[in-house]
Amino acid sequence: MSLQSNFARVYLRLEKIMTTTELHPFCSIYLYTSRTLVYNCTNPIDYHASERRSSVIRTTYVREDILVLVKTYPNPSKKYIESSCTAGVTRSGEWLRLHPLPFRFLVSEKRFQKYQWIRTRIKKSTDPRPESHYIDIDSIEVLNESLSTENDWAQRRAFLEPLRKRSLERINDEQDSTNISLGFFQPKRIESLIIEPTAKKWTDAQLTALYQQQFFDTDKTPVLEKVPFDFKYKYTCDDPKCKGHTQSIVDWEIYQSWRKWRKQYGDGWEAKLRHRYEYEMQQRNDTHFIVGTMRDHPKSWIIIGLFYPPLAKKERQGVLL
Ligand SMILES: [Zn+2]
Repeated sequence: MSLQSNFARVYLRLEKIMTTTELHPFCSIYLYTSRTLVYNCTNPIDYHASERRSSVIRTTYVREDILVLVKTYPNPSKKYIESSCTAGVTRSGEWLRLHPLPFRFLVSEKRFQKYQWIRTRIKKSTDPRPESHYIDIDSIEVLNESLSTENDWAQRRAFLEPLRKRSLERINDEQDSTNISLGFFQPKRIESLIIEPTAKKWTDAQLTALYQQQFFDTDKTPVLEKVPFDFKYKYTCDDPKCKGHTQSIVDWEIYQSWRKWRKQYGDGWEAKLRHRYEYEMQQRNDTHFIVGTMRDHPKSWIIIGLFYPPLAKKERQGVLL
């Protein structure tokens, strides 16, 4: 048998293994309703599986279950009208970035929220960052409601805490050996929220991208609003090597807060935004950052997602006394 056909056989076998969906050994409930698959994992992350899996490159489309943890505010896209960075973890605890995702143009049954599991076909993209994958948007199935916020976000913590690194410095160290471009950690202290004015309008090229209609039925989707500010956190990590950081926040939620509060409070939007994202995130929430690099700047980290369970009552009282 030729080397080529041997290769093909091994490849087919690999593909079969990778597309087989198995019940997670620790799943306690796994049942179908008429519309939604519901499950409840008590021990969701399998580190050994993650290590095994990280060496596998998905050269063809395979089906994966992904817990969505990040959605960034969309940017105009020449090819897809607009696109946002979406990231999450697989059942084996492997970080993934999904692209392209013109989220607002997905049909309603495919339009997932953060902390929902989706099942979809993905394939390694040409983006050199190891977590980056193309997503077959037609294959998206939303599997459950968003994980509950009860018991101080216990369900969400169960998935994220095992992925936590000590600091951005540790994530950087890991990047030197593995090239990772996504990470999760808790800042020691948020010093301030920086709000910087930026362009008030889209450029002509961005507008041309936003008004394309060849891919999707955009009649009902309002044109993406230009938010005329950049939001940044100045913070430090719990690490002797930390010299402090100032990084952009591109989490969809802060942009949405600006859009909502500007309508609701007029000029008072800034006080409201600062109260929520500067005061409360520090004093009332146990705030963590999900960070990622940009394709053209693989060494520069930005905050792509905020994870903010409430501080435990004891800590909260200590802070407020
Ligand atoms: Zn640091």
